[in-house]
Amino acid sequence: MRKPKVTVIGSINMDMVTTTSKVPNQGETILGETFQTAFGGKGANQAVAAARLGADVAMIGRVGDDPFGQLLLNGLEKEGVRIDSVEPVTDESSGVATILLSEGDNRIIVTPGANQHVDSAYIESFRKLIVQSDVVVIQLEIPLQSVDYTVKICSEEGVPVILNPAPAQTLPIETYKRASYLTPNESEYNELFTTVHEELKQKLIVTQGANGVQWFQGDERKRVPGHIASVVDTTGAGDTFNGALAVALARKESLEEAITFANAAAALSVQAFGAQTGMPSNEQVKTFLT
Ligand code: ATP
Repeated sequence: MRKPKVTVIGSINMDMVTTTSKVPNQGETILGETFQTAFGGKGANQAVAAARLGADVAMIGRVGDDPFGQLLLNGLEKEGVRIDSVEPVTDESSGVATILLSEGDNRIIVTPGANQHVDSAYIESFRKLIVQSDVVVIQLEIPLQSVDYTVKICSEEGVPVILNPAPAQTLPIETYKRASYLTPNESEYNELFTTVHEELKQKLIVTQGANGVQWFQGDERKRVPGHIASVVDTTGAGDTFNGALAVALARKESLEEAITFANAAAALSVQAFGAQTGMPSNEQVKTFLT
């Protein structure tokens, strides 16, 4: 059987996580406790989630021409994600997130670097790949004009597109209307969609953390409850949900089946540390659901 084709367009970052007992004041140097790097970026996370679940996944994104760029490419390739459409940018850094974890106080600086070069012309150069996809997924860690442009291509070409509006930023209403599905979490929903809810009701799939997922079918409010999970780290739960939703929709499952599958995949993902580590395989999700 042909694998479903999912194309993920978005960010690729190296997360650099330092744990420390206290954070430095201005001009102060302190010794940290531990340091770890982890593959991240919403785009890359969603691509890895979809690949683990058995889809044929292509990533459209960019890395820098620094050592991180090569590591990020290797990381995606090892997961079976196609990287022909991830071109390094000359004289630019890879996207990085500098994360300071101190008891009860997380401080994060995200430097987009090469992700800023995922512009409309770059996306246009992969139109053929986009058109051949069963489902496209996109988030907001690349220039917003590129998101508008991609959603427009998809609606013109009749390719289903999941727009994950994270991190929350306002897009033109036309873009929301052209998207096939909008997948905010609860706070993104409250910030972006409460005033335009009626117009977009049939597209909205709102994730609610441990409470599961809500959406509308006609005028009927539908909900799948969250699974009880032993939570280790919820980072990447939303990314797992979006990657899994794309795979299930690409397999032509009904919306309710696809949401049920994604809700289970996301619940499994919170049971391990890090965004990508806990992302499950298709078999793990199927077993979990039976
Ligand atoms: P994150 O930013 O942590 O990656 P998010 O804020 O984008 O996540 P959430 O709505 O918190 O998105 O979570 C997405 C989905 O993940 C939920 O709809 C649910 O399916 C699953 N999930 C998240 N947290 C839990 C939890 N504690 N227990 C079970 N499932 C969870």
